[in-house]
Amino acid sequence: MNNKVILFGGTFDPIHHGHVRVAQSALEQLGADEIVLIPARRSPHKKSFPMADGPARVEMISLAIVGEKTFRVSDCELKRSGPSYTLDTIRYFRAEYGRSAGIFWLVGADAVKDLAGWYRIGELIDECNLCVMFRAGFERPDFSSLAGVLGRRRVEKLEQNVIRTPLIDINSTEIRRKLACGADVSDMLEPKVLEYIKKKGLYSS
Ligand code: ATP
Repeated sequence: MNNKVILFGGTFDPIHHGHVRVAQSALEQLGADEIVLIPARRSPHKKSFPMADGPARVEMISLAIVGEKTFRVSDCELKRSGPSYTLDTIRYFRAEYGRSAGIFWLVGADAVKDLAGWYRIGELIDECNLCVMFRAGFERPDFSSLAGVLGRRRVEKLEQNVIRTPLIDINSTEIRRKLACGADVSDMLEPKVLEYIKKKGLYSS
């Protein structure tokens, strides 16, 4: 394997300490060279569009990862029309990094319940290392019920790729809700991200 790259997709609406801490932990555990944060134009798994627009989410991610030399942000999903399918993004980065690169896609344990319905999930599992991370408030990842849909070999691959990330009980929904009623969120995200949110008046209603 020439190099290892971690791809971390999400809505990041807004990015918070939970995202950054689990990403740091995954980077250490996998011994990867870099991690790319990829804000989705629209998640196929969420009912609505993100509240903040693409450029604002890219800016907030950039502010949150300022001191992290191995982190970068990509706007590749924002440039595509339609829902942001992970398989398309994996193929985009595969073309960039080449066949011998190890490509790891991070997702939190909250995604396990929807995994069987993901767009071309079998091909996705075959073409990268889909790494499910621990997440506060969710069961330790268990894929046993997926064997019928995905097959034993793919389920084993998912099990081998589970990453024991620290449990950080933060989510963007709660941050948006708190900001809308003027509550304090300063312990949930980077001060520079909060400053940007206030300056732009994001999530205020
Ligand atoms: P929302 O509350 O708006 O649904 P979120 O906090 O879950 O947002 P997303 O941007 O949707 O954040 O998450 C992107 C990815 O990061 C997802 O795979 C999600 O499971 C994972 N993730 C987010 N927060 C955490 C956390 N605290 N611990 C582990 N994984 C997380």
